Amino acid sequence: MILSSNRLLWPLNLWFPRVKNLPYDGIVHRRSLAQTLLIDADDTLWENNIYFERAIADFISFLNHRERKPAEVREILNDVERDCIVTHGYGLHSFAHALVKTFERLSVEPLTPALHETIHGFAHAIATQPVQLLPGVERTLEYLSGKHHLVLLTKGDHKEQTGKVQRSGLQKHFAAVEVVPEKDPGTYTAVIAKHQLEHERTWMIGNSPKSDINPALRAGISAVFVPHDDTWILEHEDVLTPDPPSELLVLQTFRDLVEYF
Ligand SMILES: [Mg+2]
Repeated sequence: MILSSNRLLWPLNLWFPRVKNLPYDGIVHRRSLAQTLLIDADDTLWENNIYFERAIADFISFLNHRERKPAEVREILNDVERDCIVTHGYGLHSFAHALVKTFERLSVEPLTPALHETIHGFAHAIATQPVQLLPGVERTLEYLSGKHHLVLLTKGDHKEQTGKVQRSGLQKHFAAVEVVPEKDPGTYTAVIAKHQLEHERTWMIGNSPKSDINPALRAGISAVFVPHDDTWILEHEDVLTPDPPSELLVLQTFRDLVEYF
């Protein structure tokens, strides 16, 4: 609990130390030509990480470790999650597995079927959360889809991600929805080829330097970084400086896109 509430108070430039150095002249440069906008979903269109943070806080309270502080437990969980992503990918199944493995690593009690079920419950409570859109998202997409070609590009478990897209009611604004297991430069190159996109008129928009901004810039397209105060720690990374003609915009909110597109 301590960790999640502290995280909300951390200033943005501590998380993304180079953000303040990025070009942002405050002048409106709205694109007249139609662009392709690849748009991330979790923590860009709707809340996501806050539910994981709550589940983690519940898990750490439940574990109630006598010697390890909550922040230390969290560090161990982060390491276990990194390993679980390699073998199980992203999503609730992988997260539940990480909680169980962390429990096994830290608890003196053996893992009984009842404990296993309780721990899985922390993860699977996330699946029942409603899709809570971020401010201005619906109207912004309505505007953008009238002028540009929108593709939703999200990583994670196919069923979980498409379920959220359906429940969000936002699918109608997108020409296509792509759910990918990972977002690396190769993913962007494949999406660009599949949809026959022009690099100079394609942008990736999202909250994650690691998954949205840096691999998109490495793949030779432009990017719009819309930071979210509660971005998952495993998505943190310094933001790259783009190589022209690629561009990078840093916006405070999703609705600011209407000023540029
Ligand atoms: Mg995201």
